[in-house]
Amino acid sequence: MQDGENMIKTVAHVIHRRGRRVDDPGIDIPVADDLVSQPGSRSNNVDVSFYSRVEPLTTPDLEKAADMDWAWTIFPDDLAEYRRAHDERSKPHLRAAETSGDIEPTGIPDPGVDMTEVIRNKARELGFGEVGFTMYDNRYTYAHRKGWPKFQNAICLALEQDYQQTQTIPSLEGEYAHFGTYEIEAEIAIELAEHIRSLGYRAQMHLDSAEAGAFIPMFVNAGLGQLGANGQLLSPHFGSRSRLAMLTTDAPVTYDQPVDFGISNFCQECQVCVNRCPGRALIRDKVWYRGVQKNKVIYERCRPVMANYDGCGICMKVCPIQKYGMKPVMEHYVETGGILGKGTDNLEGYTLRDKGYQGPDKLPHFNTQFFDIPNCRPEELLFNQFKEKVQAATMPPVEEMREFATEVKKALERGKRQSHMKD
Ligand code: SF4
Ligand code: SF4
Repeated sequence: MQDGENMIKTVAHVIHRRGRRVDDPGIDIPVADDLVSQPGSRSNNVDVSFYSRVEPLTTPDLEKAADMDWAWTIFPDDLAEYRRAHDERSKPHLRAAETSGDIEPTGIPDPGVDMTEVIRNKARELGFGEVGFTMYDNRYTYAHRKGWPKFQNAICLALEQDYQQTQTIPSLEGEYAHFGTYEIEAEIAIELAEHIRSLGYRAQMHLDSAEAGAFIPMFVNAGLGQLGANGQLLSPHFGSRSRLAMLTTDAPVTYDQPVDFGISNFCQECQVCVNRCPGRALIRDKVWYRGVQKNKVIYERCRPVMANYDGCGICMKVCPIQKYGMKPVMEHYVETGGILGKGTDNLEGYTLRDKGYQGPDKLPHFNTQFFDIPNCRPEELLFNQFKEKVQAATMPPVEEMREFATEVKKALERGKRQSHMKD
C-alpha cells in the first residue's frame, strides 16, 4: 500500500505480525473500518459453558464413523494405499502423545522466569509458522476425552502446508500436503515437548488425529487468526493452509490476546468459499451455535464430496487469504473495496475428476443419492440394517444373526479403541 490517496476505505487499525519464517521481516496488516468487529470471535461465555455442560462436544469421527467406513469402500486404490501408510506412520506419534503428559522433566526450572519467548522461539525455529499462548479451555474437549488435558497453559501451533500441492486440490497431491504436514508436525511437536522438559517443565501433546477436542477457539483466543466462513482458522500468512497441533504445559507463560483481523466481516463480503463449495455445504449467514456466532458447515453435504473427491478441501483452496496471504488481501480491500482474486479462474477454478474443470461461473451437480450415505455410528448402522430385514418379514437365518452379532461386536470394539487411543 503506497499512500492514502488511492484508498477508498479508511484504515481503522493496523496489525503487526512476525514474519512467516524466523528470519523474515514482520508484516503490517491494515483493517478497514467497515471490517472492524471484535477481537477473536463473537461469543456468549455463559452459553458456551451451558452447552458444554448439557451437551458436551462430540466428534463426527466417532459419532458418524459409519461414513468413514463407507468412504474407505469408495477411495481409489492410490488414495487408500497412501491413507493406510499414513495411518501406520502416525501410530508412534499417537502413542507418544498419549503418554507425553506423564513424562518427567529432564532439566531444572529457573524459578520465576517466564518461558513464553523461549518456547515461542524454539517452536518457530522448528518450523511452526504461528505460535500462540492461551489458557486451555476445557469446554472444547470432546466428551469421550474429558479429563485428558493435564496442564492449563496451551501452546497453539500451526504448521504451514505446501503451497503448490494445495493449489491442486482436490487431488491426491493435495492429500499428500494435508496428511504429510500432520506427520511433520507430530515429529516437531515431539521435539518441542522434549525441549520444554529440558527447561524443567512438563509438556503434553495434543495432535489433531488423537481427536481430543476442538482446537480452533483456543487458536483464536491466542490471537493466531479468526474463524473463516469455511469453518477453518484464517491466520495471517497462510490462511487455513496449515495443520494445527497443541501442547499443554505447566511452564510459566504469558497468554496472548485475541485479535480483530477484520475476518468476521470480510468473510461476509467475500463469500468465495460459500459460492464455490461443490456440495453447497457452506452457509452464507452467520448463526449462533453453542454460544458462538459463526458460519456453519453442513456436515451431511460436505462429507460425501470429501469421500468422493480426495478429501475435497476446495473451501481451503479458493480462499484468497490462503492463496495470497492476509496482508495483500486486506490492502487490496482498503484500496479498492474489492476481494483480491474473486471471480478469476486463478482463485476460483478447480477440477473434479469426473466432472471436469469448474470455472468461477460453474458448479457441478449431484443427484440426491450422492448425499445418501451412512450417517451414524457403525453399530447403529448394523442395527438399522438388521431392523429393516426383520421389518421386511425376512427374519434372518441363525447364521446371519451370528454374523450380525460378530459385526456389532467388532464395531463396538473399534469405537472403544478409537475413543481411547488409536492402536
Ligand atoms: S470440503 Fe468441499 S464439500 Fe466440504 S465444505 Fe469444503 S468445499 Fe464444501
Ligand atoms: S473464501 Fe472468503 S469467505 Fe471463505 S473463508 Fe476465505 S475469506 Fe472467508
